[in-house]
Amino acid sequence: MKRSELGKIARLLKESLDEEKMWGEAEVLLRKMKVRLEQKQNQNKNQVKVEVKVKNDNSTAPEPSVQGGTALEEYRKEICSCQKCPLGKTRINFVFGVGDPRATLMFVGEGPGYDEDRKGEPFVGKAGQLLTKIIEAMGLKRQDVYIANIVKCHPMVDPVNPEKRGNDRPPSAEEIAACLPYLQKQIELIKPKFICALGTWAAKTLLETETGISKLRGRFFDYKGIRLMPTYHPAALLRNPALKKDVWEDMKMIMAAMKENS
Ligand code: SF4
Ligand code: URA
Repeated sequence: MKRSELGKIARLLKESLDEEKMWGEAEVLLRKMKVRLEQKQNQNKNQVKVEVKVKNDNSTAPEPSVQGGTALEEYRKEICSCQKCPLGKTRINFVFGVGDPRATLMFVGEGPGYDEDRKGEPFVGKAGQLLTKIIEAMGLKRQDVYIANIVKCHPMVDPVNPEKRGNDRPPSAEEIAACLPYLQKQIELIKPKFICALGTWAAKTLLETETGISKLRGRFFDYKGIRLMPTYHPAALLRNPALKKDVWEDMKMIMAAMKENS
């Protein structure tokens, strides 16, 4: 077989494994392959050590990530006691956002659910675990991106019984209107190059449209000079696994655009 053909097969295999990895089935196989590849590379490695150049020679200048991080952290402190809408009264935790304050890619969801309210961190429940898998299948880590929501407090169907499971609901128009400036400011501070809007509420809110997610997904939109890709919410994928293929297509578009951008 020709080298080019072999390369093509390897690429195709990697692509389909990446997709599988997103859903967890081939993770073990992929890990084994990685270990073998690393072993081989170590065997082949010649003994010459390449000196790693330090990126920032100016040791007195603070890292940009620290500067950005400080401003974002200051902003979190400023708004974390917010009571601008009724969700402030029933929340356990204000869920600001998590990740790299200088991230190139930002994910925006709808609002905290049961688990997020208890942990004070976005996307940590079942849907969140799936989002983490998606991020990892993209070759990234959770800490490489930034994750936030349209609203920062948990919207409940029945706030009188906060311990009830399945008590989540989408945020109301009033709650979104009250909370959206916070997300806008976060985006201003983080300055991502790409935003992935997860689900109907994030996409509709940021794009100011009534069009449904199935019509919006699969292409980039402009959001204040940032390339925004709408896609299905991970919770929708848990309900309807057939949508996973489309999400992976959308993620591949983001990956390709990020590669072009770097
Ligand atoms: Fe404030 Fe937003 Fe929480 Fe409402 S949801 S109380 S606007 S932080
Ligand atoms: N769903 C969301 O939209 N956001 C979260 O943080 C968790 C679940």
